[in-house]
Amino acid sequence: IVHWSFSAQRRKLNWVQLAGHKGNFKAADEGTILKKFSDNEKQCFEEVQGDALLPFVPAFHGVAERDGEFFLHMTDLLAKFDLPNVMDCKMGVRTYLEEELVRARERPKPREDLYKKMVEVDETGPTPQEHSQRGVTKPRYMQWRETLSSTHNLGFRIEGIKKCDGTCRTDFKKTKSKPDVIQVFRDFVGRDDGIVKSYLRRLSEIRRALQASEFFKRHEVIGSSLLFIHDHTGSAEVWIIDFGKTTALPEGQTLSHAIPWQEGNREDGYLWGLDNLIHTLECVSSQ
Ligand code: ATP
Ligand code: MG
Ligand code: MG
Repeated sequence: IVHWSFSAQRRKLNWVQLAGHKGNFKAADEGTILKKFSDNEKQCFEEVQGDALLPFVPAFHGVAERDGEFFLHMTDLLAKFDLPNVMDCKMGVRTYLEEELVRARERPKPREDLYKKMVEVDETGPTPQEHSQRGVTKPRYMQWRETLSSTHNLGFRIEGIKKCDGTCRTDFKKTKSKPDVIQVFRDFVGRDDGIVKSYLRRLSEIRRALQASEFFKRHEVIGSSLLFIHDHTGSAEVWIIDFGKTTALPEGQTLSHAIPWQEGNREDGYLWGLDNLIHTLECVSSQ
């Protein structure tokens, strides 16, 4: 019993959530977590069984019910690390679905809440007209937001970082330029070139798996992240997480994930972003 409470406590210390609503996750049995149920994400977990991506996705243990609520039961990727450093990188050149943009346009009414959010981040964000009406439409806000971070120019952005000393940062909304992103990565890995090398190896394995994956070919992968984890023992892993917005294409349709997005082609820029991410880490290692 003493042993159990020790490991439970250790797990509590380890667990960190770098994105999403705090209420969306619950601790579960040893080494596993529960994420609020979504039918879409469940379907992705099921389709990935037997796919080339399987070794890079947290193991899925089915649907679980707690107090009348449903959850997806999956492996806690942090569990086997000792005081891990964790970083969430959201992949792709956009983080909304094409259908979300279409839906946002159906009600093009300028909104004051979005205007205020924009001004809070950037006084000069709104156009003169938006300033005078104190309102910004949803599609305009969605597209503006993507140009703030590196999503638009690098095809990935940093969502959050927790370091082993307990410090946590999620204020990367305006981290955009490659030199700035390199600096954040350098701070994340410290001076350990071995960690960078392990991350690069893992990323090239992921790249190969993505290119072999039927699942990847047939899905618009939006809002999915690569989760980087390393600790002082030298182990370093990267995992593919968050299929909340990963959407199957119509039968027979596929994506390149590398060519530019034009509305209608559903391209997500995932592979282009991954190449930029790999190059970013190479820059960290060569300095
Ligand atoms: P959002 O869509 O806003 O990104 P979400 O509700 O879909 O959030 P996720 O992105 O799946 O949630 O996860 C949120 C955070 O929880 C991740 O950034 C990561 O820190 C942590 N996390 C998620 N899944 C795992 C896992 N299997 N093991 C360890 N940590 C995880
Ligand atoms: Mg996420
Ligand atoms: Mg999500």
